[in-house]
Amino acid sequence: MRDNEITEISQISEELLCKYLHACHILHYHDLLDAYGHISVRLSPSTFLMCRYLAPALAASTDDLVVYKVEDGEAVAADAPRGFSERFIHSEIYKAYPETQSVLHSHSLDVVPFSISSTPLQACFHRAGFLGTAVPVWDVATVYREYPDYLQDMKVTDTRLGLDLAKSLGSAVNGQPTHPVVLMRGHGFVATSDSLEMTVLRGVYTTQNAKVQMAAVGLGEQIQFMTEREGKSTGKTGVVKPWPLWVREVEENPLYRNDLSKQNRP
Ligand SMILES: [Zn+2]
Repeated sequence: MRDNEITEISQISEELLCKYLHACHILHYHDLLDAYGHISVRLSPSTFLMCRYLAPALAASTDDLVVYKVEDGEAVAADAPRGFSERFIHSEIYKAYPETQSVLHSHSLDVVPFSISSTPLQACFHRAGFLGTAVPVWDVATVYREYPDYLQDMKVTDTRLGLDLAKSLGSAVNGQPTHPVVLMRGHGFVATSDSLEMTVLRGVYTTQNAKVQMAAVGLGEQIQFMTEREGKSTGKTGVVKPWPLWVREVEENPLYRNDLSKQNRP
């Protein structure tokens, strides 16, 4: 590991730590995370930050956070608390796409139906243009066929599975994947971007798009999806407006504790 890498919590700005806890709470508030699922943020080329093994909604202080290595998905500190078994989703995506700054893994039940049907999830309302005309689906069974000794519990529990999933996001363009979102068959989805806030936004609007698409299918008529050009044009909308609202929503809710928030400091 190079000298200028961030390898300890004490090297991370309080602003980023606070924002990370907010992201965990916001994703729970919006039903993207329950007891399971997780978000991470890159700290430096070879490290990233993620919760320890707990429901992210309950992460409250730096004691709940761990610095991980991109190289192998293991914690930098030998005495780190237990981590998520699926942390290799994050490490392998950071490895494959050097400009990706944040990764979300969600088990959203709004999205899972599209991972097991032949109907692709695609952009059908203007906040979700980044989804494009067909979100890819990664099928873990392709790895199981090659390595039948796996437990086959659908989870991404090592670097081999993580690498195969990362590849499904497509080739790297300027260090970012071709597809910002990929569904995981019978499991959930992954969203990526160049910032923590944008990854949260993409997660929220991926689930909202799934709800809209499902409702439109229920009408039983032909659906007019967004074109590729419309998707690219609307995909540029930012987080400036929603983020402060989302932060306020979780700060006002007593379920969530954020020891690093200004609101909680004397
Ligand atoms: Zn999972």
